Amino acid sequence: METTILPNEQKIAFDFPRQDALGGVCTASAWAKVPEPLAAAAREPLVNEIKALLKARNAVLVAHYYVDGALQDLAWQTGGFVADSLEMARFGKNHAAQTLVVAGVRFMGETAKILSPEKTVLMPDLDATCSLDLGCPADDFARFCDAHPDRQVVVYANTSAAVKARADWMVTSSCALAIVHELHQQGQKILFAPDRHLGRYIADQTGADMLLWEGHCVVHDEFKAAELVTLKAKHPKAKILVHPESPASVTELADVVGSTSAMIKAVVDGPGDEFIVATDQGILHRMRQLAPGKKLIEAPTAGNSATCKSCAHCPWMAMNGLVGVKACLSFDRPGPSPFEVQVDPALGLKAKHCIDRMLDFTAHNPDKLARAQHGFVKNIGAA
Ligand code: SF4
Repeated sequence: METTILPNEQKIAFDFPRQDALGGVCTASAWAKVPEPLAAAAREPLVNEIKALLKARNAVLVAHYYVDGALQDLAWQTGGFVADSLEMARFGKNHAAQTLVVAGVRFMGETAKILSPEKTVLMPDLDATCSLDLGCPADDFARFCDAHPDRQVVVYANTSAAVKARADWMVTSSCALAIVHELHQQGQKILFAPDRHLGRYIADQTGADMLLWEGHCVVHDEFKAAELVTLKAKHPKAKILVHPESPASVTELADVVGSTSAMIKAVVDGPGDEFIVATDQGILHRMRQLAPGKKLIEAPTAGNSATCKSCAHCPWMAMNGLVGVKACLSFDRPGPSPFEVQVDPALGLKAKHCIDRMLDFTAHNPDKLARAQHGFVKNIGAA
């Protein structure tokens, strides 16, 4: 087994600002666009207007588990869907609606458009991006691939269409382990981007030879092992659920390492009444709905060893709100809509190849997915 990390001098720098020791700005432009919470009296009429607009435009709302609970509820109430990025992609592709409203981040809207170029794909705010996408510019990534032509290129969903166009496979955290395991069994060497923690986790679990890009998620990178140990000591019966975008020191403490869907399943179906959850706090809304009797505790991101008091919430996911959903559905001025996701058709066709391979693999290999998922789970039984 060979797991290779780029040497320091070749590391790709991130192009987003980190919070400094004095409490300076961290992802400030995104936080500045996060909508104010709505009073209950304002929310109900707005929700009714959106329901009417969805009907009038033959549109369906597809939301990620990390977005505001009001959006998740609205998606379910209107025949839409709330899911992880794998299931969002599949739902949008298969649904008959002519317009998809994607409440999530930019790469999710792009994936929906790539899979359904004939549909209109709208987002409440097209500036909602992702630190992994930002940290993997297409030109640099192309040079990285060019330097390693002997490797299968596997990219995480959290990348631009241009990066996907260069890939052999796309994966999400739900299927990454199964797909890389399969490639490893075939004797393939892997180039993986952009999340370094997920890449290292997959390499450790599968034994695959993986060359990793150095990206990270600003939310999951901030979970802290030392504080987690302290929290666990206060809640000794709690099972620890960790997303694999978290650092190795944190995943090592987990009872379950898995995608958002796997973490929800662990809370709903797994043993135990108490869970420490290390992923974006938006997921707690769905967990509380499905397992109302269980105690959910947010994993610590701040403390003595923290560099950024991120509160375990993605600023770009937080940019999605009811007001934005109404705005994207009701825009009717002449010219291109500022809410519509556009992907160059030729680029989209190239990018579609790696997404189709993932969808095909996941549709036809439920047993391999289940086996791989079992590998994520350490002390909690089936999840
Ligand atoms: S939570 Fe992390 S991986 Fe997910 S969209 Fe936000 S920055 Fe990207």
